[in-house]
Amino acid sequence: MSTRPVRVRFAPSPTGPLHMGGVRTALYNYLFAKKHNGTFVIRIEDTDQTRFVEGAQDYIMDAMKWCGIMPTEGPGIGGDFGPYIQSERKAMYRPYAEELVSNDKAYYAFDTSEDLTKMREQAKEMGMPNWQYNSVTRGSMQNSISLPSDEVKKRIENGDPYVIRMKMPRNVDIRFEDEIRGWVVVNTNNLDDKVLFKSDGMPTYHLANIVDDHTMEISHVIRGEEWLPSAPLHVMLYDAFGWEAPKFAHLPLLLKPDGPGKLSKRDGDRLGFPVFPTNWTTAEGDIFSGYRENGYFSGAFVNMLAFLGWNPGTTQEIFSLEELVEAFSLDRVSKAGAKFDPDKTKWFQQQYIRSTDDVILAELLQKEIEGDYPLDKLTEVCRLIKERATFVKDIWEEGSYLLERPTSYDEKTTRKKWKNDAEANMQEFKTVLSELDDFSPETIEVAFKSFLEKKEIGVGAVLPQFRLLLSGKGMGPSMFDISSFLGKEETLYRIEAGIKALAEAKANA
Ligand code: GLU
Repeated sequence: MSTRPVRVRFAPSPTGPLHMGGVRTALYNYLFAKKHNGTFVIRIEDTDQTRFVEGAQDYIMDAMKWCGIMPTEGPGIGGDFGPYIQSERKAMYRPYAEELVSNDKAYYAFDTSEDLTKMREQAKEMGMPNWQYNSVTRGSMQNSISLPSDEVKKRIENGDPYVIRMKMPRNVDIRFEDEIRGWVVVNTNNLDDKVLFKSDGMPTYHLANIVDDHTMEISHVIRGEEWLPSAPLHVMLYDAFGWEAPKFAHLPLLLKPDGPGKLSKRDGDRLGFPVFPTNWTTAEGDIFSGYRENGYFSGAFVNMLAFLGWNPGTTQEIFSLEELVEAFSLDRVSKAGAKFDPDKTKWFQQQYIRSTDDVILAELLQKEIEGDYPLDKLTEVCRLIKERATFVKDIWEEGSYLLERPTSYDEKTTRKKWKNDAEANMQEFKTVLSELDDFSPETIEVAFKSFLEKKEIGVGAVLPQFRLLLSGKGMGPSMFDISSFLGKEETLYRIEAGIKALAEAKANA
């Protein structure tokens, strides 16, 4: 490993909300930086002003904050290597591009976009559909290699628009060792003379990215696989400047849950899961839903994301952020694409809700529901119901009857269980309950069991009926816990009220 201090960066373009794949890239950068006592930088790559989207930068920062993976350097955060927004660094790129021209590593090109389109069309007609500006074709184009130098000078003095292109050499193998993929070798014959500097005075992504990674002393470039095809050009650029290249690690793609191909926003719409960390509202007012607003805990979301392309090599699946930092390493990141699994994502959320303190859950629940319920009561509701919930709101959907009397009775349970001796049994069991001095779950359970024994009937003849009358539901946590929580008076009341309501319903049917 490089002996340079670890400095990594997350370099999103503010072209819209951050897809969960982008958050995973940020997360792996964060984990790597923390693991190596390094620095995590965020840099906003906005050189393509045509794709700039208002609010995207704030969205990105907010999403990272929610995930608990804030960078240590960046816009609005500070650091010694700023500014951290490329448009604010605009003035520094041109000299670098000019340096490459003077070293014969790059050249001026005057071709207009119409010239280039014409060229491509002509080539297509001649049976070459993939025309490229490269070492073979550049001689017949309008540039500082093909034109006489006085002509080049004249055009520049005239203010003719031009770009600066990389002079990609012919037939050279570019090699670099990717931390995840091993050795990558690409021949320059497969690469074109990429534009480094545009006629609008802005660098392209490639030049700005390299200049910034170098001047920000980035030691490791950890980014998505979609940037792997750009890496050979980047390696060439480091070489052209005579700079030490950072280490590269290209992360595997996130794949659709149900087939081949990259996970897209449309898969989320189609299969009903969020693709974004937090809600995003477009300028047109369309809402892309986020994990946060869907009720996911950030810890569960981050834990799930960590496993999309990495594994700890053990059977442990639940990791706090600190534990992830401890366990993370690039050599356990896989090359193969990671299939996103919405069910597994829910599973992580269930594990997190179960291990969250009841009081904390109650505070969250209090904010979600209407009605003014005391925190200690809600805490009990959370304790009894959380095993059955995925999201905080489910706790109320599943267990509001603990604090509110049922107003309806589950139709299926009524049909199947409220017949024969059900009513008579419940009347008798009510008397048993009314004679208990202690109303703890254990005492109720003992009374219940001896009642069954005495009557020589099975659990199924009393328990579902007991649940139906107390909660209106067909399923739920232990009835001994429920009745103990409700207390003797309320339990007896609900049995009586339930019997009456079911009798009335039957009479009216
Ligand atoms: N700006 C690029 C993006 O939007 C960053 C690629 C890189 O990390 O080099 O993903």
